[in-house]
Amino acid sequence: MSSSAVTPRLRFAPSPTGYLHVGGARTALFNWLYAKKHGGQFLLRVEDTDKARSTDESTRAIFEGLGWLGLEWDETVVYQGANLERHGADAQRLLANGTAYRCFCTQEELAGRRAAAEAQGESFKYDRRCDRLDSAEIDRRVVAGMPFTVRFRVPEGTTSWDDLVHETITFPNKDIEDFIVLRTDGTPIYNMAVVSDDIAMAITLVMRGDDHISNTPKQILLYRALGAELPQFAHLPMIHGLDGKKLSKRHGATAVGDYQHLGILPGAMLNFLALLGWSPGNDIEVMTQEQMIELFDTAGLQKKAAIFDTKKLEWMNGQHLNLLSDDELMSHVTPALVAAGLTSEAELASRRDWYLFLLAQLKVRARTVDDIVRQAVTYFRDPVDYDADAVAKQWKDRVGTAAILRGVRDALVALPVWESGAMEEALRTLAEQLGFAEKAGKIFQPLRVALTGVSASPGIFEVLQLLGRERSLARVDAALARVAE
Ligand code: GLU
Repeated sequence: MSSSAVTPRLRFAPSPTGYLHVGGARTALFNWLYAKKHGGQFLLRVEDTDKARSTDESTRAIFEGLGWLGLEWDETVVYQGANLERHGADAQRLLANGTAYRCFCTQEELAGRRAAAEAQGESFKYDRRCDRLDSAEIDRRVVAGMPFTVRFRVPEGTTSWDDLVHETITFPNKDIEDFIVLRTDGTPIYNMAVVSDDIAMAITLVMRGDDHISNTPKQILLYRALGAELPQFAHLPMIHGLDGKKLSKRHGATAVGDYQHLGILPGAMLNFLALLGWSPGNDIEVMTQEQMIELFDTAGLQKKAAIFDTKKLEWMNGQHLNLLSDDELMSHVTPALVAAGLTSEAELASRRDWYLFLLAQLKVRARTVDDIVRQAVTYFRDPVDYDADAVAKQWKDRVGTAAILRGVRDALVALPVWESGAMEEALRTLAEQLGFAEKAGKIFQPLRVALTGVSASPGIFEVLQLLGRERSLARVDAALARVAE
């Protein structure tokens, strides 16, 4: 086990065969958090040995996704495929120190034996026949150019480790067959490449998805056979959809990039991912990056599968929208308002105080930047689009509504200043006059629909202030005309 004096070195080791999946991003985040928390290094290794499935596009998507989330890695990226020579050399060391042997059995022979075993209802395990060849026979075959794989000789006993998530995990070695580490063409098998790289990169803690638990005993045996110090291991729970099944495209977007394009804030995505398999305790949920680093602790890692709930992600995004500084919020919302054709950067800059007041009102009811834009439309564009449900509900009594709106109009027109204290006094007096003394909502709700077209908006006085005198009065007039129809 690595001593605590050693600087922790962790790595994220994605296979570039698709997009950066939310599960991969979660694994990257936990490695990054651990490294940051303990003053260690977070490294990136692209596991691109499967040339048929690896693509440059996918590697780029991984870089982009990590970049968007702010998960910067230390040192230069390691490409596994560039280390084939070392993987081979490590396999040769196993051969040389007697922990591995040459296997001349062909794939066809092995497939035949497997089929025969299965026909008998037995599970197939390599019978070690090549390990029983005498050295003269081995030499003869090698000299004759017979192709061979290199197989690791699994020793007797058990293999166990203290997993930081699952505590002690033990595998009986008899369940592990002598596995191949090098193919006939000299390329390494996955576990050989991973161990060779993790040793070379001086990784002290391997943190990855628990789908790798079954690889771990083989990897531990390889470390030992190579005389290398073992890292610690932490196997993170799988991520499931709300239906309890492994997260897949069926559950919606699973690529980190999709959420970027849906207007999710990177801080919210990180926070959401952090809670997939980790709990900081004390019911804490909303955290900044700094707080996550501060609170991160492997004791809070969970064994049970984590549930990916996009509603929770949206909620989290709303929380993070409200954590942003004004400038950060504007940097997200301004381009979206401009793209929606509602305004221009210059206009917003010339009305900065008004714009900040608008954002302060809208952000508390928004979960996404898109929500803010949707709510903002009415403050930029006439005529008002009246929501049918709002009209049916709040303007049900047409005659009464017209009386209220006329009363509002008269009260507001008479105001010497367009200021919320004065407006409130005027409208509360009106409410009393109309017999709604304790129920000012009877006035505010129809007025809200007149001003914004919908039943939910910021406070009515804030809306009046945002719209200004002229626009507010024009909207009341337009509503009166509409109610009279
Ligand atoms: N490349 C492996 C994967 O994407 C990760 C291997 C590891 O972390 O040891 O699942």
